Amino acid sequence: MDYCGEKQTYKKAHVCPKCNLSGEKVNEKTVNSLLTIKKALQENTNYYLCFSKDCDVAYYNEDDNIILISEIKVPIWFKNDANPKYICYCSKVTEEEIVDAIVNKNCKTVKDVVKNTNAMKISNCAINSPTGKCCSRQINDLIKSLNEQ
Ligand SMILES: [Zn+2]
Repeated sequence: MDYCGEKQTYKKAHVCPKCNLSGEKVNEKTVNSLLTIKKALQENTNYYLCFSKDCDVAYYNEDDNIILISEIKVPIWFKNDANPKYICYCSKVTEEEIVDAIVNKNCKTVKDVVKNTNAMKISNCAINSPTGKCCSRQINDLIKSLNEQ
């Protein structure tokens, strides 16, 4: 289901110059809005989010220029030491709150979680979330992994 009015496509391509794992393409607008430093992004290249939890690279581009996690405004939830671990960056809802809703408030779907937390009450993912996309995917993943246990 699509909550933020956008089609969710997740293309994997191009590997991180530091950890060599493939990342996910991210809109330049997203990278720009999350930078803490004034840094002109390169033109005519794509930026990617590094998905390795051990890597301190947040974004990299096709010319292997990197932006470190220390250079962006928000902790990236899946990186080691991310604190707090936001799942919904727009409404500042943490992984802990989502897990609590699933485990203690019997939430079985993303819709249930939305009803029982503040998740997705505000949706401006393109400028707030490190992926630039709606967090329903992460909520779904949490529901799945907790139900498998
Ligand atoms: Zn990396």
